[in-house]
Amino acid sequence: MVICVTEKLYWIDAYQKEFDAKVIRVEGNKIVLDKTCFFARSGGQSSDTGYLDSVRVIDAVKDDNSSDIFHVPEGSHEFKKDDVVHGKIDWKKRYAIMKLHSASHLVYYVMQAVFGPSCKNASSGLISENKSKIDYYFEEPLDPEKLALVNDRVNWIIKQGHDIETGTRNENERYWKVSGFPEMPCGGTHVKNTSEIGEVTVKKGKKPGKGRQRIEVSLKQEAN
Ligand SMILES: [Zn+2]
Repeated sequence: MVICVTEKLYWIDAYQKEFDAKVIRVEGNKIVLDKTCFFARSGGQSSDTGYLDSVRVIDAVKDDNSSDIFHVPEGSHEFKKDDVVHGKIDWKKRYAIMKLHSASHLVYYVMQAVFGPSCKNASSGLISENKSKIDYYFEEPLDPEKLALVNDRVNWIIKQGHDIETGTRNENERYWKVSGFPEMPCGGTHVKNTSEIGEVTVKKGKKPGKGRQRIEVSLKQEAN
C-alpha cells in the first residue's frame, strides 16, 4: 500500500500563502512534495495555481493511489528528489474560492429552509474563483421569488459575522461548521468568519437537466 506523504498545509492554515518543502518524488513531470499549500481539486473546489520557485504550477491533482498531491508544472523543470523548493499559491484566486465555498454552504442551508428538504445537492458542483455552480434537485419549477429570498437570507447571515469552524475527525475526515447550522463534512478551504465573504449574488444558472436546477453564486465585488 502506498501511503500519502504530502502534509496538507491548507488544512492547518487555509490562509498560508507561501511555504518551503522538500521534493519527495517526480513522476513524469509532476512533482510530489512532503508538504504543500496547493489544494488539489476535490469536492467541486478548483485546484490552486501558483509557483514552485520560478516554475509555474498550472494544476494540482490528487494521486488516486496514495492521495499525494501532484503539482503539475506548465513546462519542463529540473526538480529532483530531496530538492528544497519555495512554493507560493495564487492568493487572490484562492481567497475568492474560500469565500465562494463558504457562501455555497450557507446557500445550501437556506435552499433547504426555503424550498424544503427535498431540495438537495444533485452534484458536488464546481467552485472556481469566479463562480460557484451547484445543481439541486427540484420537484417543482423554481420560483424566482423564493430564490430572491434565498439571496437575501444568505446575505443577511453573511453580514451577521458568524465564526466558521473547520477541523479533522478520525485522521482525514474534515468538517465545516458555522454557528446555528448543522456540521457538514467538507475537505475544502473556507474563510474564518462569514463577514469576510462580503455580498454575494445567488441566481439561477442554465438548466442542467430534468428535475434539477443550477444555482450560481458569485461575489459582488468581483462581478464588475
Ligand atoms: Zn466546504
